[in-house]
Amino acid sequence: MPEQRRRSVVIIGAGPVGCALATLLRRRGTRVDLFERASAAADAGSGRSFNLTLTSRGLDRLPGSVRRRIYLRGTVLVKRVIHHRDGAISTQPYGSASAHHLLSVPRRVLQNILRDQALAAGARIHYDSTCVGVDTARPSAQLRHRDGNSTWVTGDLLIGCDGSGSAVRRLMTGRHPGDISASCTTIEHGHTEISMAYGDADPTGMHLWPRGDHFLQSQPNRDGTFTTSLFKPLAGDPLRPHFAGMTRQEEAEAYCAREFPDVYPRMRQVGEDLTSRPPGRLRIVDCAPHHHGRAVLVGDAAHAVVPFFGQGINCGFEDAGILAGLLDRFGFPACEESGTVVEAVAAEYSRLRVDQCRALADLSMENLQELSSGVDSSEVLARRALERRLQELHPELCPSLYQLVAFSDVPYETTRRRHRESAALLDSLCRGRDLRRDRETVIDEFVGSFGGRWRTGAAN
Ligand SMILES: Cc1cc2nc3c(=O)[nH]c(=O)nc-3n(C[C@H](O)[C@H](O)[C@H](O)COP(=O)(O)OP(=O)(O)OC[C@H]3O[C@@H](n4cnc5c(N)ncnc54)[C@H](O)[C@@H]3O)c2cc1C
Repeated sequence: MPEQRRRSVVIIGAGPVGCALATLLRRRGTRVDLFERASAAADAGSGRSFNLTLTSRGLDRLPGSVRRRIYLRGTVLVKRVIHHRDGAISTQPYGSASAHHLLSVPRRVLQNILRDQALAAGARIHYDSTCVGVDTARPSAQLRHRDGNSTWVTGDLLIGCDGSGSAVRRLMTGRHPGDISASCTTIEHGHTEISMAYGDADPTGMHLWPRGDHFLQSQPNRDGTFTTSLFKPLAGDPLRPHFAGMTRQEEAEAYCAREFPDVYPRMRQVGEDLTSRPPGRLRIVDCAPHHHGRAVLVGDAAHAVVPFFGQGINCGFEDAGILAGLLDRFGFPACEESGTVVEAVAAEYSRLRVDQCRALADLSMENLQELSSGVDSSEVLARRALERRLQELHPELCPSLYQLVAFSDVPYETTRRRHRESAALLDSLCRGRDLRRDRETVIDEFVGSFGGRWRTGAAN
């Protein structure tokens, strides 16, 4: 098809999700222009340096050639390595099959790969272009450029991929408050990266130090270094955000020496790391629907979640794959008149995504407990052993919650419902029983009640 007759899409934000979506759309012959607030020399994406873990839920939405490039630069993690308070170390595999692994990639590396792939596919990226206005009917966006001038650009479809602080979302909800609404909640936990020389540690696992309401996490990189982050509640001081009980370097050092004595000697500048700049804040964005007129929101712009399930970007790639699939299904790339097609696609996209993203937001917040809980009473350990045994014996019927969230395409909402039902049933079967003695009986009873109702992938 001649270039001038192709359908065109305007994407605001050339972060990882915007670039991944641009590649998917270019492969369908659509013209794609991305407008990015940052300058070409700076980094697009959400600013801070941290590693992102990708799982098959998100990776499988990307073209194979893009996936292969990411694997070449990432680190495969097959288990959690848990560093207990008493110095003991235990491991938990992420799943039961070779596909059940995380791919850990530094955010900048991932961003660069996705940007280069979008450009190679023929997308155009316009830097120093900040979105300051939207019109969802035409649809078009107003961009302010570095020289202070602004221009309007129009396409057949407008997509906001401009992250959790999305201007597109703010402008849409501001102009159409009766049709679309959004809220943004900042949670009490913040995060900061800590320099830690940990090169001799096991490079195939995600290292975790759960310590009650806070935890330390260290992810291996391909070059033998580790990226280490602390997640901890902040003091309620809006003028000077800092971790609770840590305004001075000595307090931060004493805290790490007490909580993480096994690795404290490897944290050479931890006092400075923890006090010299404000910790990053973590936001939950809830928005419904994810569209208005001929404009849609994709990625964090529609649904930022806390990172405790490591699914934010995976969910963004899932959005991108689903939106590209809908555009195909409704005949967008070759349609004669795009208006009604785009409106139908946008409405269907919202219908498919809003509840899923809300379910992920809940699951992500609930997983904070799993990551930070250091309480391993004998009852908790017996219950976990029973769940592991159940998963070993009946992997189809009882995949772990983690497996379903990270490594399947079962909708998040179905996953959450299934998990809640199975946990409630197990609670009732375990009540008043000695699980070391009655484990096999509980498993048989569980399979009798739960089997047939839920099979992986069958009950969506
Ligand atoms: C500490 C932490 C750890 C995380 N770990 C994981 C993980 O392990 N796995 C995972 O899946 N997810 C993780 N996430 C979530 C992940 O970072 C986000 O889901 C992901 O960055 C979202 O990508 P995005 O492209 O939607 O938004 P962003 O990365 O925020 O990119 C948005 C882009 O839009 C541009 N932009 C913003 N405003 C405008 C404007 N007005 N005009 C033009 N351009 C604009 C920005 O410059 C940026 O380039 C983590 C998040 C945090 C905070």
